[in-house]
Amino acid sequence: MWKPMLVACCVLMLLSACGGGGSDTSSETSEAGSAADVSDAAEVEDAGTAVSDGGFSVEDEMVCRANMEGLAMFLMHESSMMGSCPETLADLQTLSPAYASMEIVCCGVPYEYEPDGADFTLTCPNGHGNVVNEETSWQW
Ligand SMILES: [Zn+2]
Repeated sequence: MWKPMLVACCVLMLLSACGGGGSDTSSETSEAGSAADVSDAAEVEDAGTAVSDGGFSVEDEMVCRANMEGLAMFLMHESSMMGSCPETLADLQTLSPAYASMEIVCCGVPYEYEPDGADFTLTCPNGHGNVVNEETSWQW
């Protein structure tokens, strides 16, 4: 005697659950769609960044050489003031905030710096050239 009532209740509940579920599903779908769009755009952006980061460009070389000349100028100055070059580029950077703002790496790789009394050699690890005191291995 109760069975038909129970079945009817179950059917009603299922129907109402389906109705609600249906609208939920559609909103989830549209959210998933926009999320996919965002991740696609992010992937494209990442790929672009990776390309510009990869490989050394002429611009890297110019920036690097200008930077090495700046460092060389500071090293020459300190050398003439103190009679000898700082032992490391990190030491140079502790001497003045202006020095500390200089890059002592090229594309993330530290410059090779060899002090020798009042003389020094500064070499780019990425083949952009070297500076021996005021002598650069390149011509602008
Ligand atoms: Zn370099």
